[in-house]
Amino acid sequence: MTLGVERELLRALHATRRAVLAAVAYDLVTLEAIAAAGEATGCPVIAQVGSSAFGLVHGPGLIAAARAVAVGAAVPVGLHLDHSRDLDEIRRCLDAGYTSVMIDGSRLSLGANTELTARAVEAARPYGAWVEAELGHLSGDEDRSTGAGAGEPTDPDEAARFVADTGIDALAVCIGNVHGRTTRPVALDLGRLERIAAVTPVPLVLHGASGVPNEVISAAVALGVAKLNVNADLRAAHLGAMAAHAAADSTCDDLPGALSAARRVLTAHLTSLIQAFTA
Ligand SMILES: [Zn+2]
Repeated sequence: MTLGVERELLRALHATRRAVLAAVAYDLVTLEAIAAAGEATGCPVIAQVGSSAFGLVHGPGLIAAARAVAVGAAVPVGLHLDHSRDLDEIRRCLDAGYTSVMIDGSRLSLGANTELTARAVEAARPYGAWVEAELGHLSGDEDRSTGAGAGEPTDPDEAARFVADTGIDALAVCIGNVHGRTTRPVALDLGRLERIAAVTPVPLVLHGASGVPNEVISAAVALGVAKLNVNADLRAAHLGAMAAHAAADSTCDDLPGALSAARRVLTAHLTSLIQAFTA
């Protein structure tokens, strides 16, 4: 049984300037691909199963599937709640065996974000789960590309206080990164990242890694990003694989074949990302 990317593992990755890939899963095919990519590279991976997926499919069923896939994997597979704004949802996921959660108070004032985040940390401690929070505010939508521009950047001095006051284990930074694909190239502010890393001891998290050039991601990892969130490119790869299979299918009903194609393409895509950034 290898369920979990524990706090110690995240810290060890951070200490050696490596990162774990965290991919959003809306279904079982993606969960299987995440674990398969971890096994293909021998690296830990994180499956992010969260609020938006719960709105699509039976939440407890998807969580049970994620746990089964994680437990059966030959590498550590973390189960992470991404961008939750709800302490009750966090408690439900902790009860269900999540190894980490993200509390997102980034739309709140600094004081309110600090208070909400500290409560999430308090809720997670008895479970041994680690907590990620966000300071500054990332623009764009979690589940589809909106062409958003950069959001509100993370202030290094506020970040130092926020980490100390909340006791979080990982900090999601806003340094020009955006959720979803963008109309203009994303320009990461690596100078800001360096200033944040200099005053915060915790692993940093980069959301919206899809579409950012490999060498920029590698530079961010070298500066202290220890968790890379990807979603938009995976969604596109998933749909693209199924569309290509359907277009080539004279029977027009080979759903099993399309699902297999999606799993294959997602596994290859995730494997190449892990090899590029985290191995
Ligand atoms: Zn995000």
